[in-house]
Amino acid sequence: MPWIRLLIAVALAATATNLSFAQSDPFDPFGLPRDQEFSKAIEAGTRSAKGEPGPKFWTNTAAYDIEVEIIPDEALVRGKAKLTYTNRSPRALRRLQVHLRQNLHLPGAQRTRTVETTGGFEIDAVTRDGEAMRRGRRGYRVRGTVMTVQLPERLASGESTSFEISWHFTVPRAGRAPRMGHENKKVFYLGYWYPQFAVYDDVSGWVAEQYLGNGEFYMGYADYRLAVTVPAGWIVRATGELENAAEVLSERSQERLRTAMESRDIVKVIARDEIGDGLATKADANGKSTWIFRAEQVRDVAISTSNQYAWDATHAVVKDRDGEGKDGKCRIEAVYEPGTGAWNRAAEFARHTIEWMSREVYPYPWPHMTACEGIIGGGMEYPMMTLCGSGGRARGLQGLIAHELVHMWFPMIVGQNEKWDAWMDEGTTSFYEGLIEAEFWKSEDMTAAESRADVTKRTIRGMARRLARNPGAPCVGHADFTPRGAFVAAAYGKPSAVLHQLRNLLGDEIFFGALRNYVAKWAYKHPRRQDFFAAFETAAGRDLGWYFRAWHHEVWTFDQAVALRREGDEVIATVKNLQSAVMPTTLVLTLESGETETLEIPVDYWLQGNREWSQKVNTKTAKARIDPERLWLDSDRDNDEASL
Ligand SMILES: [Zn+2]
Repeated sequence: MPWIRLLIAVALAATATNLSFAQSDPFDPFGLPRDQEFSKAIEAGTRSAKGEPGPKFWTNTAAYDIEVEIIPDEALVRGKAKLTYTNRSPRALRRLQVHLRQNLHLPGAQRTRTVETTGGFEIDAVTRDGEAMRRGRRGYRVRGTVMTVQLPERLASGESTSFEISWHFTVPRAGRAPRMGHENKKVFYLGYWYPQFAVYDDVSGWVAEQYLGNGEFYMGYADYRLAVTVPAGWIVRATGELENAAEVLSERSQERLRTAMESRDIVKVIARDEIGDGLATKADANGKSTWIFRAEQVRDVAISTSNQYAWDATHAVVKDRDGEGKDGKCRIEAVYEPGTGAWNRAAEFARHTIEWMSREVYPYPWPHMTACEGIIGGGMEYPMMTLCGSGGRARGLQGLIAHELVHMWFPMIVGQNEKWDAWMDEGTTSFYEGLIEAEFWKSEDMTAAESRADVTKRTIRGMARRLARNPGAPCVGHADFTPRGAFVAAAYGKPSAVLHQLRNLLGDEIFFGALRNYVAKWAYKHPRRQDFFAAFETAAGRDLGWYFRAWHHEVWTFDQAVALRREGDEVIATVKNLQSAVMPTTLVLTLESGETETLEIPVDYWLQGNREWSQKVNTKTAKARIDPERLWLDSDRDNDEASL
């Protein structure tokens, strides 16, 4: 940015700060920062201060009709789509913003990771009503990974508009692209492969940020029809329900998939020794097959295809899916190259998480959940689909699959912005992953059994030590601009531990109830961090700004210390709050007789700015201890005990 523009930007930023300052309450070091845009949304009634959507909340929507051919020998994808956008906002739109994320791979593209350079997303044609649209201000423009389509006339509230686009791109090799690619032209996973509308939301309007590689996504909900053409013998799994099974699957495969919906066993749709026998699929006269999928209310679609995969299937029982007391079923699938780690157990791992999350959080709404092996090192989530590396031993793979499948709730059902608040999906996902993992292995191996309370204790202990060494970066930082080394703790481990700590603060009923309510209220919508925070405040019936300020917005640490001293015949106990964060204090005194007395110092005492608390206590006191149950992220445990 040239210096003169920089000066203007600084001046504008200063004005904005002053404005928000003028509107704030008297300075409160423990309050949440004000956000003008968000306050305006509350005034407009699209949001509320209760952590629920406001009465005037809206989302825009879209429909995609996509035909795509995957040509494995050339690692080439050719696509053609009709994109329809519906404006349900109260404002008329002049233009549409569309992501072309394959442009991450263009030579010279802005990015935060090293990737294979390809030709990027190559546009063959853009048409509206059969007429070609031109590149330029009046047609469409492409800047990096974002395309802007100028509308011939404003799109009024309640109206829809369509255009058609055809394209092709070279699929990057596995390991040379974030979250997608191909392995030796034998296994393909397509993510971020089609033109996708950016989100236009009630708070910020268009949110069409560049795809730089690290930061993930913000996506709107849409309906899709997807026709995927592949060579004979290749199986295709994708987001959505397969509509033409009779045309692409053999009788044998169809029968096995039906059995999977009735049986708790893992059914081999393609067993290890059946790979390549040609008996699983059907092809047309041209030696190809076209698989048609339909998906509703999803924020993205992904495709997995291979002629090397074994294919397992079973089903999960989805508690209360069709209303209270009316359970539903969801097909569970795993596709993998046989012999890879513990993948022959992947369907079992996937079923456990889908059933657990449906029971504990919100019913899984979609017809299937498919775990695909290969391509990447870790795991990545897509609606109804996950792509995971080999995952090593059973325990590692179970944890990885649990993590990716919790993402079906955050951010797939609850459409958070993963770039601005990666912690909202990664932290919450890591939190549930820990509970699910412990529960899965409890049933398997009682010697390693951990209760929920054990998981909370272990997570808090580990993170307290870590924060003592290095407080890291704030959770709320932008995913693309938080240093890589600090990002993982700020987005995953810390917000997960901070949720465990919040569970300790609020108790299970309020805490888990707040999370369930948050998911139910924000399903298929776009909550902001303020909505997440307010959901807990509403459930708890009190202001928790001080908590979220300390643990999400700042890198404050927490350390309270206790001391005992004798003054004449009296015993004085002192508790000091040594760092910026505050938490309520429980002080347990052990008397000479061995009996105990407990004193509570409410958090309000510390919130008033007090740094020290002192009181005469029982003259028979021998020992004192604070935080006896290890509920808080206290960075120094050595000063939690004192004796006389
Ligand atoms: Zn994740």
